[in-house]
Amino acid sequence: MTDEQARTPQPAPVLEAVDVTVHYPVHRSRGETVHALENASLRLIPGRTVALVGESGSGKSTFARTLALAQTPTSGNILLYGKPASARGRRARRAYARRVQMVLQDPFASLNPLHRVRYLLERPLRLHGSVTGGEDMERRLRALLERVRLTPPERFLEAFPHELSGGQRQRVAIARALAVEPEVLLGDELVSMLDVSIRLEILNLLAALRDEEHLAMLYITHDIAGARYFADEIAVMYAGEIVEYGTAEDVTQTPAHPYTRLLLDSTPDPDRMEFLAGRTNREDGERDVTGDDYGEPPDLVHPPSGCRFHPRCPLARAACRTEQPPHVELTDRHWARCVLLVQPDASRDTTTAELTP
Ligand code: SF4
Repeated sequence: MTDEQARTPQPAPVLEAVDVTVHYPVHRSRGETVHALENASLRLIPGRTVALVGESGSGKSTFARTLALAQTPTSGNILLYGKPASARGRRARRAYARRVQMVLQDPFASLNPLHRVRYLLERPLRLHGSVTGGEDMERRLRALLERVRLTPPERFLEAFPHELSGGQRQRVAIARALAVEPEVLLGDELVSMLDVSIRLEILNLLAALRDEEHLAMLYITHDIAGARYFADEIAVMYAGEIVEYGTAEDVTQTPAHPYTRLLLDSTPDPDRMEFLAGRTNREDGERDVTGDDYGEPPDLVHPPSGCRFHPRCPLARAACRTEQPPHVELTDRHWARCVLLVQPDASRDTTTAELTP
């Protein structure tokens, strides 16, 4: 999708998160709470992909689980076609799962190794009552495998998960999600455990499914370069908060938040080399955002005051320690939260400046 297409008026979302906050109690006796997600909003639209990008522990998976109603939000709403979504009770849970499916990172863990592919795919078809058996079942099983490009289907139907490659297992996991004809697919790091050569194949498959079947997709990843390739829009998460949101083109070509810049800085991109001019690169051209250069991710039991990124931000100002960064609309579909977007001349915080690469 071109940037121009991404800017055209958007159709109504299938699934929407509105100001969703998730706090987990831990150490009840000490009254401690993990502030996993704060006021996060996004809209999933048929035929479009939103990538949720950030390092481990940034709240991406919590957000996906909340969208799947596997996690109850502390506040905020999950809306399905504009109405509050519910998974209270078995029937409601099943009805919701038929529309919103999640595919996890590790297909080996998510596919029961004791069962053949046939069983793994038959089960959702029977559970959701769409097929009972006989020729119809056989036809649906074959069609499912063909949809995920596992052909000829008879070669895979009787296989056990351990007899398949990582990419083939992930295709089976995707086929199992597709078995109930969902409208939304939530993919949690679903290519991160695969060989690099296989990742592109799976992303191409997902892109084809999205386009051909008009699926609304959430693609969770720590790889912003992959997100640029695959997604229409990118939400950058840091420490439980969305800090930048926009079209994939805007976020990767004109990043506004220092954390987004560091993520991009860790990924060589020939189209964006001017941004890196004047900065020290490793010999291989990569930076490790999670490495010593930028310190450790914050403890979400005691999240940093003010801007949560301030202890690691190379551009932090004194105000960043105490004040919430403003939400700044850069275009009609690109926003970020950073004080520098409204006060570029604010004085530098010298106690964090030593983190500057
Ligand atoms: Fe850095 Fe301050 Fe902007 Fe946060 S608000 S990203 S600490 S400059």
